[in-house]
Amino acid sequence: MDPVTATRDGEIEGKSLPRVVIVGAGFGGLNAAQALAKAPVRITVIDQKNFHTFQPLLYQVATAGLSPGEIAAPIRSILRSHKNIEVLMAEVTGFDLGHRTVKTSDAELPYDYLIVAAGAGDSYFGHDDWEPYAPGLKTIEDALEIRRRVLLAFELAERQAAAGESAIPLNFVVVGGGPTGVELAGTLAEIARHALAHEFRSIDPARTHILLLEAGPRILPAYSEDLSQSAQEQLSHLGVEVRTSTMVTQIEPGAVHAGGTRLPATVVLWAAGVAASPLGKKLGAPVDRAGRVLVQPDLSVPGHPEVLVIGDLAAVKDEHGKMLPGVAPVAIQQGRFVAKLIRKEVEARTKAGAPPLSRSLRQGGDFDSRPNFHYWDKGSLATIGRAAAVAEFGRIHISGFIAWLSWLFVHILFLIGFRNRLLVFIQWAWSYVTYERGARLITGSTHLPGWSADQKPATVSAQRAEEIPAIPPK
Ligand SMILES: Cc1cc2nc3c(=O)[nH]c(=O)nc-3n(C[C@H](O)[C@H](O)[C@H](O)COP(=O)(O)OP(=O)(O)OC[C@H]3O[C@@H](n4cnc5c(N)ncnc54)[C@H](O)[C@@H]3O)c2cc1C
Repeated sequence: MDPVTATRDGEIEGKSLPRVVIVGAGFGGLNAAQALAKAPVRITVIDQKNFHTFQPLLYQVATAGLSPGEIAAPIRSILRSHKNIEVLMAEVTGFDLGHRTVKTSDAELPYDYLIVAAGAGDSYFGHDDWEPYAPGLKTIEDALEIRRRVLLAFELAERQAAAGESAIPLNFVVVGGGPTGVELAGTLAEIARHALAHEFRSIDPARTHILLLEAGPRILPAYSEDLSQSAQEQLSHLGVEVRTSTMVTQIEPGAVHAGGTRLPATVVLWAAGVAASPLGKKLGAPVDRAGRVLVQPDLSVPGHPEVLVIGDLAAVKDEHGKMLPGVAPVAIQQGRFVAKLIRKEVEARTKAGAPPLSRSLRQGGDFDSRPNFHYWDKGSLATIGRAAAVAEFGRIHISGFIAWLSWLFVHILFLIGFRNRLLVFIQWAWSYVTYERGARLITGSTHLPGWSADQKPATVSAQRAEEIPAIPPK
């Protein structure tokens, strides 16, 4: 029987049990909570959203392949069967490690153990003023904004061409050649060449110019060189122009400056930088340049063994000194690891008849025998587009259809909820056969940065602008 049961009015019993507060219900936080569900602890999961987002499929929402509800699930419903877990929707604003409390905008919550799994956001490398012109892709809201801009660009171009004016150049610029930039660029190409190809009468969407800019010498730098090369070829095949060693120096409405040239851009998407949640700094622990907390090998904050940081917010090196990547399997394994630590320590204390986590015990050798976190790397997969992907499983490198099938299988398998898995599988199979993208809704504003009030594209300076040809009317 569970050591903690819910009373009829929903309150958690067993109030003397140690309290674990988990900040963030992403991959790390959710897995920690689920792994602690049968332990003799009370758990409070706090998230600023009421839903968990499956980030690996955000690009599908951004490119109208899936609807938000298919890649997100209510946190409360995911955890509903665990009676020792309560869920609070609140933004965490800070911590008091001395008094062991978590601060939200309207309350302070005490904890015995704290797990911080607040993830990461975008970094514009000190140019936050670029954000309105080049949205990143980290949340459902970001995905919907990207979808709005992409679909609106085609509509505005059609309207202009239908009015007999020369259509705007449909140039989509994606900044950053990591996995997110690659999947966005590849899928945009697919939409333009296939999904929209026969639906417009005055423009030809297939002539959309998609440009992927990467500051480094190759795209997908975390993968082996042969896979980077293969990804670049697969992108070219889809009609994406890839420019490497091209640093973006300025983004303004309707244009990107890169490699000494001003490139007119109808839509600019940012996939270039990651910054850890600002909550990392609020822990008062040392952080790296990306704001990730430099945790101990057991994932605790130095000097605070009861505070554990996991997922994208933690800077952890493997046994070869290489920084672990910000990917879901790292967050999942870390969530389960810290849950096991806590469970073992709480159970050991109970067995020894010691009062749970009294202050004196905290000072003593309670936490001394902890193991170090070890990441089991099962391989990496990056998708590029329809039947295009790369996969690296140790020495085994795969490209193309088989890699794409593996990607598909893994990502559907890890989606939360059977309903979502089934829906996404059906959607995928349908769009594979028909090329259709069913979630093509433009909601919100009908303004596109870089367009004037009367919906004309921003004028491009003739001397400095690189010539990207306008789409001639059909
Ligand atoms: C577009 C995209 C594609 C990706 N593709 C892949 C992929 O294909 N494969 C892969 O393995 N990984 C992928 N990743 C990376 C992966 O999603 C992350 O590594 C993983 O989500 C990290 O988990 P986490 O628990 O640390 O943080 P997250 O999953 O980001 O969760 C953080 C949670 O904390 C909450 N939160 C943040 N701040 C606060 C606050 N102040 N108060 C309360 N709650 C807060 C957030 O609302 C969120 O729910 C992708 C990421 C993105 C953005």
